[in-house]
Amino acid sequence: MALLQISEPGQSPDPHQRRIAVGIDLGTTHSLVASVRHGTPECLPDEQGRVILPSAVRYFLDDQGRTRRQIGHDAMAAAADDPVNTIVSVKRFMGRRLADLPDAGKLPYQFDDQPGMVAVQTVAGAKSPVEVSAEILASLRQRAEDTFNDDLFGAVITVPAYFDDAQRQATKDAAQMAGLNVLRLLNEPTAAAIAYGLDNGAEGLYAIYDLGGGTFDISLLQLSRGVFEVVATGGDSALGGDDIDHALAEAALALAGLKAVTPQDKRAVLVAARTVKEKLSTDGSAHLSVKLSGGMLSEFITREQLAQLAKPLIDKSLAAVKRVLRDAKIKPDEVKGVVMVGGSTRMPAVRDAVGAFFGQTPLTDLNPDEVVALGAAIQANQLAGNNQQGELLLLDVLPLSLGLETMGGLVERIIPRNTPIPCARAQDFTTFKDGQTALAVHVVQGEREQVEHCRSLARFELRGIPPMAAGAARIRVTFQVDADGLLSVSAREQLSGVEASVVVKPSYGLSDDQVANMLREGFATAKEDMKDRALREARVDAERMLEATRTALAADGDLLSAEQRAEIDELMAQIGSRCDRGDLHALEAATQALAKGTEAFAAERMNRSIRQALSGRQVDQL
Ligand code: ADP
Ligand code: MG
Repeated sequence: MALLQISEPGQSPDPHQRRIAVGIDLGTTHSLVASVRHGTPECLPDEQGRVILPSAVRYFLDDQGRTRRQIGHDAMAAAADDPVNTIVSVKRFMGRRLADLPDAGKLPYQFDDQPGMVAVQTVAGAKSPVEVSAEILASLRQRAEDTFNDDLFGAVITVPAYFDDAQRQATKDAAQMAGLNVLRLLNEPTAAAIAYGLDNGAEGLYAIYDLGGGTFDISLLQLSRGVFEVVATGGDSALGGDDIDHALAEAALALAGLKAVTPQDKRAVLVAARTVKEKLSTDGSAHLSVKLSGGMLSEFITREQLAQLAKPLIDKSLAAVKRVLRDAKIKPDEVKGVVMVGGSTRMPAVRDAVGAFFGQTPLTDLNPDEVVALGAAIQANQLAGNNQQGELLLLDVLPLSLGLETMGGLVERIIPRNTPIPCARAQDFTTFKDGQTALAVHVVQGEREQVEHCRSLARFELRGIPPMAAGAARIRVTFQVDADGLLSVSAREQLSGVEASVVVKPSYGLSDDQVANMLREGFATAKEDMKDRALREARVDAERMLEATRTALAADGDLLSAEQRAEIDELMAQIGSRCDRGDLHALEAATQALAKGTEAFAAERMNRSIRQALSGRQVDQL
């Protein structure tokens, strides 16, 4: 959530004084390092000429019992035989507690729920995700230093736009552990936009569609005067190329009438499916062949067949795109350009579907699995002062709405989700009861109408409100979210000036899955929520009416005859029973009846106070 401010770098140093700066894409499945050489960014290959480093680390013990590690391709090769000690997709665990990982039970790891962040138990002891990420970063740093035969000045490391403070801090810590000087953390979609030079191009709105191995991210960036603002982000944290591999593997097995029973069989089919899938991005058909324990699997697969299998998954990604556009109130044709990111966007079926959705050909000139690292390299080069460039200001948005609990357990939204931060909003509230001197402020986060379905962030009390009639106090509650995503809430009674405040970290410890879930629930239940909201509001109205009547009876009950009093008591009892039943219309009618039934009484009270005023006695409140 940090505001990334990129200030004017200094003068370009002499060529021989160039500072070596790199951009690193620390991905869920793959990581890359890139640097600007001879004026253009390029990904740096390892000794075998491969630019992609699988984001995998395996820990094992050698003959002497010393801790050893394999990183990247070697770790991947060993993953099938030693899944427990081979940590893949560690990015999902960064800055997360066990409670933030709903699928932890399905993974082959032994998790250790340590305060702050989970750790994974391996033969070499408990490994924090920060440490594992540091291994990957150190390997890329080594690669860069070998390439340039020099020390690195610094690195720009990319993170998903939705990463919160804890996840960003964990990424920074990993970099530091790997001996890297972090020039900046940069949002992945922004890096992709920079790689395409959009920051030098036409102002407008850009969509970054990033379909990787296991995650799908969609981001909307607004470019104005060379400044990128992240307008909105969304996606699906459990959708990617891996799902297409699974679909193809199952389809091939079904075609052959075979079953993959053993874990080895399952893995072998998946590996073959992935190879065939990738081949079909360039070829019209490919041969999938694997030897299984139950027989030989051998099928020809066409590109069309694969496209059919992938369609439901691609549609799922487009549904997420639609949601983000709708939230941001943007129509697909308002998007000026679409940038394709992630290895899975090499699939022609994905390109076609995205192109059709936006009504324009997406940008695919750069390698989609390299584009994030390339953009980060450009940024690193600028920050190292190797290039004179204008100022770049990058903003982020609030991932979930922030609000307050009001009477009846309802949520009053103060700052809606996707509002660019920093931001501040204020709203006035009032007291519910006569003479109320304290106000409980409950700050919540989420998209639902009821407090119990949102996440509770903080509670505090405003005390010392001067006693007044219900509804007379003016309490201004101000929400302020700073550039780092820190929320402070203050409440101030306007007449007396009494004030109370609290600082909370809204996104801390909330996984993107949880964010996605809370959003999904919000959309799915919107209608039900509205009904529920109406009922709760009616209850609050009824309560208010009852409270006012009780106060009036206590003060001036002697004005009523026993009969009149009994009528009013009956009307009050009616409300009580309807409140419990949950019939909205009956409750509203009962409240109306009490209002009508006490009109004469109210008039009598009014007369009495006027009489008292006329007889020279002070009336402080009418
Ligand atoms: P991440 O950002 O999650 O680390 P990547 O952007 O590197 O991942 O994407 C990895 C995914 O891209 C894998 O599912 C891989 O199979 C897929 N992929 C890579 N190359 C191709 C290709 N030529 N055709 C289709 N899919 C591909
Ligand atoms: Mg990626």
